[in-house]
Amino acid sequence: MVKQIVFTLAMVLAFGILAWSFSKIFALFKLTKSFPVKDIGKRIWIMLKVAIWQSKIFRRPVLGFMHALVFWGFCVILIGSLDMMIDGVSGLDKSLSFLGIVYTCIMAFGDVFAWLVLISVMVFLFRRVFLDVKRFSGVEMKHNSHIDANIALTLILLLMVSLILMNANYLNLNPNANAVYPISRYIADLISPLSYHRFYYEFSWWSHILLVFVFMNILPYSKHFHVFMSVPNVFLSRLDPLGKLPNMDNVTREVKIMMDPNLAYATPAASDAPPERFGVKDAEDVTWKTYLDSLACTECGRCTASCPANITGKLLSPRKVMMNLRARMKEKGPSLVKDKSFNDNRSLIRDYVSTEELWACTTCNACATECPININHPILIMDMRRYLVMEESSAPSGLNMIFTNIQNNGAPWQFSPEDRMVWAKNLTIKKVIDGH
Ligand code: SF4
Ligand code: SF4
Repeated sequence: MVKQIVFTLAMVLAFGILAWSFSKIFALFKLTKSFPVKDIGKRIWIMLKVAIWQSKIFRRPVLGFMHALVFWGFCVILIGSLDMMIDGVSGLDKSLSFLGIVYTCIMAFGDVFAWLVLISVMVFLFRRVFLDVKRFSGVEMKHNSHIDANIALTLILLLMVSLILMNANYLNLNPNANAVYPISRYIADLISPLSYHRFYYEFSWWSHILLVFVFMNILPYSKHFHVFMSVPNVFLSRLDPLGKLPNMDNVTREVKIMMDPNLAYATPAASDAPPERFGVKDAEDVTWKTYLDSLACTECGRCTASCPANITGKLLSPRKVMMNLRARMKEKGPSLVKDKSFNDNRSLIRDYVSTEELWACTTCNACATECPININHPILIMDMRRYLVMEESSAPSGLNMIFTNIQNNGAPWQFSPEDRMVWAKNLTIKKVIDGH
């Protein structure tokens, strides 16, 4: 009974802190702009393919497969954690065992995955600590980013060790359950000379579940927040072709009317109210989906590693842009929640992302194609450029000339439309009829 009370208090405390952390984060979503969600069927398919099957991660077969194993392992082991929580509150042992063969399979898979996750995480840690992997470096990858990643990986490692020891010690207490933990039973044999099986089992049980509580409360403050955020982020993926850049309806209408004034009657304005902002200047100007992108970013660097601007030595790093948005929202968001007019005279553009970075983007979409969780960087970059052009008129001089030409001549060149055919003035065009 004492165990039940202590466990229930620990669980309520853990979930209470987690709920508080989520409420703080979700309050920031209220500051952002809307993002319509349609085509649920299509989204479910993308989520199954990209998030659950981890299709994009297999572009690097070995490490990709190991990452996929960690993800699938987490999904299976999560059911085991649920079982432990029910046990802890109810005082029962293996509460979900009424599921029969299904339960036995889940526990067996959980045991196998625990070992696979343990090996994979050891490889990941080794690469991070001992190898100089270019993808893990960059101006945005501060010392804290590496510490954060290493702490999370170490915690996962400890979670797996405690789970394996718990399984092994359970077998020592219940020798007939061998079939449930097909790999850990070999560890059980190794530690069987030790006495105090009940103590060892209880110790590993508590170690594992308390680590689960600690880990889930660290996640919202870590790059490993993607454990929670990546699946919903993939579900909310952009469905349009990547090359199709979203336009502002009001601006598109104005341009069309400029080309053909008759359209003014044919295409009524969606709203008479002028847009609050053209593009994105600061964190609160993004849509909630773009903010979700920044929270879901795993800092894996696959986007930056494939960015032609970055590869050719430009300042731009798409990973940095996402990390900057997250950092800026963290800096400004809480004050903005309290006071809608809060202004610290700083902004995402310039204080975090320089104009040089923004204009280095070729909009090739390599970053969005490579991102394993379908984050869309070019949309944010284009929106920040849109702000620079439409609110500050501060495009690079070469572009300003093009804009002026389009406005005056209807074409990017500095020639009058009347002169468009001058080049053909003295040309003699031979008429060819039936081969004569
Ligand atoms: S779209 Fe821009 S940021 Fe993305 S890879 Fe291409 S150049 Fe880099
Ligand atoms: S944006 Fe995507 S590819 Fe880039 S670091 Fe984040 S998760 Fe990785």
